[in-house]
Amino acid sequence: MEKQSNHFDVVVIGGGPGGYPAAIAASRNGASVALVEKELLGGTCLNWGCIPTKALVASASRLDKIRRASELGISVDGISFDFAFMADRKDKVVENLRKGVQGLITANNIKLFKGFGKFVSPNEIKVTGESPALLQADKVIIATGSKPKTIKAFPFDDKKILSSTSILGLRKLPKSLVIIGGGIIGCEFAALYSTFGVQVTILEALPTIIPMEAPNIISELSKAFTFRGVKIHTGVFVEGIDDIKKGVRVRIKGAEAVEADLALVAVGRELNTFDIGLEKAAVVLQDNGVISTNNRMETGVPGIYAVGDITGVAQLAHVATHQGIIAAMNATGHPMTINYSAIPSAMFTHPEIATVGLSLEKALANKIPATAGAFPFSALGKAQATGDTEGFAQIVINKETGQILGAQVVGSEASIMVAEMATAIANELTVECVSQTIHAHPTMPEAWMEAAWVALDAPLHLPPKRKKK
Ligand code: NAD
Repeated sequence: MEKQSNHFDVVVIGGGPGGYPAAIAASRNGASVALVEKELLGGTCLNWGCIPTKALVASASRLDKIRRASELGISVDGISFDFAFMADRKDKVVENLRKGVQGLITANNIKLFKGFGKFVSPNEIKVTGESPALLQADKVIIATGSKPKTIKAFPFDDKKILSSTSILGLRKLPKSLVIIGGGIIGCEFAALYSTFGVQVTILEALPTIIPMEAPNIISELSKAFTFRGVKIHTGVFVEGIDDIKKGVRVRIKGAEAVEADLALVAVGRELNTFDIGLEKAAVVLQDNGVISTNNRMETGVPGIYAVGDITGVAQLAHVATHQGIIAAMNATGHPMTINYSAIPSAMFTHPEIATVGLSLEKALANKIPATAGAFPFSALGKAQATGDTEGFAQIVINKETGQILGAQVVGSEASIMVAEMATAIANELTVECVSQTIHAHPTMPEAWMEAAWVALDAPLHLPPKRKKK
């Protein structure tokens, strides 16, 4: 194929949820834009992450609801499901969305270069692969993302030792699955596969699963997993995985090995920053592969921006998208800064978990005079009516100023509910703003108003904490 040479106002490396919105925003501002992508538009989130897993989670949740139909007086006989159909449906959802992204790239006049992009100088990117080219760039936005972290002692074989990417290729369910790593990915797959009847065991090196979460959230999820038959071994160090006739044998330091049909290794992600020629652009890389940026998403090199997982802020698609838009605005002469005070995060387990801002423990550790108000769903009318009484909503506030610092919600619709608190925190609202907002009845978000009243020591649908004299 013929080598092309091209000059662009902005070159974006990586077409994931950080890169393609950056390309669109830059193009919308009148810039000529090239987007370099080595695999598939949409990146991990669309192709091997958020979207395909949520398509499967949708099947699992529907199955769970049908199984529980008798709680609402409905009898359903002979429930069965077809995992291959679910997997095909997931692929169709992904393909459809990917076509949509491709359509947006074309409609925004963005030139797509399919191949691997690498700096050869601060303003030149060499593309190798399907569309080889040497691109000249006034500004560059690096959005190269991450990939599943592999462990030398037990590398992925993508047959029996799976990554979060290769497990999505399964068309047949195993009888048993051992998951190494009890972080978000490990727990989401544990919830999914256990709903499909797979015997799941989680092996986590630290003393708890989802160690980054607050203790009340950890205990709620651990309880739910135990109830659903998921085995959890914490404080265990996996030394190796043997391929045995029946599947895999996972060797644990100082403890009995665990056998299963398949193993999923979900021990974090590696950043895609080591082989993209950053030294040629003088962009400084930290040992862990993170590229530091200022609040305009610019690296230490003027005109070179970084967004997404590689910034080390949060490995979340929605953070990458925001960073991408901010980088594109700055790269095209529209100064904007990013605000990280309210990053919502949702975990699609059973029950769902969503958080934003600070936990009570983190606020207190930061010496902030914080307190919290929690409201259990079991005391909420709507939750009783629908039978979704598992979980709680909690607001963390500064007890001197009333400012909302964080919120945590576990249970039905948690991923939807967190949006109200993200808006509240991003706009520096106080607890009174929530307690004095009329919330529709009967709805799940009333739990925020109730939690706000608890935080103000004036609970309505819970007994008072202290008896008044
Ligand atoms: P993680 O860092 O969240 O969890 C990995 C876990 O593996 C850790 O708890 C760690 O202690 C454990 N571990 C490491 N080595 C081990 C060993 N040898 N034996 C046993 N345990 C070991 O990483 P992840 O779950 O792979 O997720 C990666 C990133 O993707 C996270 O930052 C997460 O935020 C993001 N993500 C987010 C969502 C979401 O928001 N819904 C979904 C998927 C992934």
